[in-house]
Amino acid sequence: MNAENKTFHILTFGCQMNVHDSDWLGRALCAHGWTRAPEDRARVVVVNTCSVREKPERKVYSLLGRLAGLGADVPGRFLAVGGCVAQQVGRGFFERFPQVRLVFGTDQTARAPQALEALVSGAEPGPLALLDFEPAFLPRALYLPEGGGAADAPGHDGGAARPDDGQALARPGQAFVNIMQGCDNFCAYCIVPYVRGRQKSRPAAEVLAEVRALAGRGVREVTLLGQNVNSYGLDRHGDGTGFAGLLRQVCAVDGVARVRFTTSHPKDLAPEVVDAFATLPQLCPALHLPLQAGSDRILHAMGRRYDMRRYLDLVAALRAARPDIALTTDLMVGFPGETEADFQLTLEAMRAVGYESSFSFAYSDRPGTRSVDMAPKIAKDEKLDRLARLQALQEELTARALAARVGAGAVVLLEAESRRQDGRGPVAWRGRDEGGRVVNVPLGGRGGRPGQLVDVRIVQAKKHSLRGEAVGEPW
Ligand code: SF4
Repeated sequence: MNAENKTFHILTFGCQMNVHDSDWLGRALCAHGWTRAPEDRARVVVVNTCSVREKPERKVYSLLGRLAGLGADVPGRFLAVGGCVAQQVGRGFFERFPQVRLVFGTDQTARAPQALEALVSGAEPGPLALLDFEPAFLPRALYLPEGGGAADAPGHDGGAARPDDGQALARPGQAFVNIMQGCDNFCAYCIVPYVRGRQKSRPAAEVLAEVRALAGRGVREVTLLGQNVNSYGLDRHGDGTGFAGLLRQVCAVDGVARVRFTTSHPKDLAPEVVDAFATLPQLCPALHLPLQAGSDRILHAMGRRYDMRRYLDLVAALRAARPDIALTTDLMVGFPGETEADFQLTLEAMRAVGYESSFSFAYSDRPGTRSVDMAPKIAKDEKLDRLARLQALQEELTARALAARVGAGAVVLLEAESRRQDGRGPVAWRGRDEGGRVVNVPLGGRGGRPGQLVDVRIVQAKKHSLRGEAVGEPW
C-alpha cells in the first residue's frame, strides 16, 4: 500500500443531512493530512448516497461503474460508499464492485475517517463494513470550517431531497449544526426511519459548544439540522432540553445574528416554538413546513398524523407571531389512491398558505415502505400531469410572494459577487435575506466581504430572486 498518497474526493447525493455529513468528513480528513483531488486523481473517492429519490441503487451502481473505470494509474486507489444506500445494500457492494473497500452507514460517518486511514496505511486489509445503528448520538470531533463556510442544500422531509452531485458548496458566514439523527415517524412512503434509524437527540451542551465555536470563527447564521427538529429532546436520549429551549439558548450565543432550523414535522410544532418566532429576534422569519398533500384522506393514508385544519391553524398562529414569515414546503402528487379531487385540495392548500417555494415530487414506491402495498397506484402520465400543474401554480405563488417584497427593507447576508455582472455600474453581490430569498445587491464603493450583513431596500422582483439597494455599509 502507498501510505503517503492521502488524496480524496467526495461525491454527495441527497438532503442537507448528507451534505453536512460530507462536509464534516472532508474537514476531518483534511485535519488528518489528507488533501482534496479530482475524482479521477484521488486515491479514495467517497460516494455519500441517498435513497429517497427514485431508483437510488441503480444510480449508485452506475456511478460506481463509472468511477471504477477512472484513475487506474493511481496507486492503491479505492472507493468508499456511505449514507442511506450503503445502509441498505451493505456488504453487497463488495461483491459487485471489488474497488469498494469501505461501506459505512448513516450512523457511522464519525468513524469513517479512522477507517479510511486504516485502509490507506494497511493497518486494516479491508474490505470494511460499518453498518451498526448506534444507541445514542455519536459524538464527532469538531472540525471547524475555514472562515465559517457551510454546505448548501435543500430541506428534507423524506420526500424532499434534491440530489447534489458535487462537493459541498461553501456559504461564507453560515453553518449547519446537527442536533439529532433519525426519525420515529414512519410515514407510509418514507425510507428514512429504516436507513437512518430511530430518533436520537444530541445533548444540548454539545450543540451549544459547536455553535459557540462557529460564532468564534465568524459564523453569523446557524441552521439547526435534523429529520424532525420539532421533536428534539422528546426521545430517551434527550437531556431534558426541548426544541424551544434549545432555540433560546442558540439565539443567545454571542455573535450569532441569525438562526434557522430544518426540517419540521407539523404534528410536533409546539406553541412554544411558534412563540419563539415572535420573541427571538435572531430567529429568521422563515419556516419549511412540509405539507405533502392537501387532502385529509391522503394525509391519513400517508400516516402524517395531522389534518388540514391543524395545519392551517399552525399557519395562522405562525403568521400571528411573525406576519412576514416566509413559508416553504414539500409536496407529493400521485400517492396511492389520490384522486383528482384530492389533488385539487393540494392546490387549494397551496393557494391558502401562499408558499414562497416548494419541493415537489411524483410518488414512487420505495421498497420496504408501507405504501408499496397500497392501491390503487396512479398512472405515471397522470402523476406527471399533476406535478406540472402543481409546479405551474407554485411559479405563480413565488412570483406573487417576491413581488410583495418590493419596497420592503431587508438585511442581506452576503455570499459572493453575483455571477452575472453587466460590466456597467457597481459590482453586484448575491446574498440572502432573513426569509431565505436570494437578493442581488450592487455595493460599488461600499466594498463588502462574504459573510457580512448589509441593510437593503428591495427595488425589483425577478422570477426567482430579488434586487435590492444598499442603504448602509456592510457590517
Ligand atoms: S417525518 Fe416522515 S417523511 Fe419525514 S423523515 Fe420521518 S418518516 Fe420520513
